[in-house]
Amino acid sequence: MTRGETEAARERAAMVRHQLLARGMVRSPVLTAMGEVPREMFIPRSRRAAAYDDAPLPLAGGQTISQPYVVARMTEELGLRGDERVLEVGTGSGYQTAILARVAAAVYSMERDALLLERAREVLTRLGYDTVHLRHGDGRLGWPEMKPFGGILVAAVGREPPPALLAQLAPGARLVMPLKDPDAEDGEVLMRLERQGEGFRRTPLFPVRFVPLLAGIR
Ligand code: SAH
Repeated sequence: MTRGETEAARERAAMVRHQLLARGMVRSPVLTAMGEVPREMFIPRSRRAAAYDDAPLPLAGGQTISQPYVVARMTEELGLRGDERVLEVGTGSGYQTAILARVAAAVYSMERDALLLERAREVLTRLGYDTVHLRHGDGRLGWPEMKPFGGILVAAVGREPPPALLAQLAPGARLVMPLKDPDAEDGEVLMRLERQGEGFRRTPLFPVRFVPLLAGIR
């Protein structure tokens, strides 16, 4: 390891301790992944000193990479065993994609912004994530050829989960997504939906702040 890598590994271990374990998360494959994926590789060079801060960070085009705790909790709430295909909407930097790739069999990740997607593709390829499949497209439509998914993670906020995504969720599988809170002006809550028979059990988790889920591509 270079000196920079040793330093990053130390910061990562501290992030797991102070931001994840200290907030009640328990040791799991998700925490192992959080302790291993080099977050600094997914953010703009000028921000690298802040890579393990307890905060979201800006990406190109006004998008953001979520706070580590939110990435970890969203992944944990999918309740994966490890043999699932997972759909991610909003690849962004590809950081969340890398975490998912370490705890699922394969990740299908969609991004509407072609520039962000190409940057994410470059980093994920360089780091050797060969179970990740990326697509430039409107993630609200999902990836119908690969349905059903054992988990779906949406990294952008909407009023309701897109119907196409719900239709691509396997029985018993979960979709985790931030939703506008109808009871709070400007409020958003992270929601977990679990497919049960013909319906979905909804469990609100905690307040969050995300960029909007937009129609179309750019
Ligand atoms: N999870 C990412 C952060 C994503 S920010 C990370 O770890 O870096 C949300 C992303 O969702 C943005 O990149 C935005 O361009 C994308 N997005 C918004 N609406 C979308 C849509 N309909 N389909 C696909 N991607 C979308």
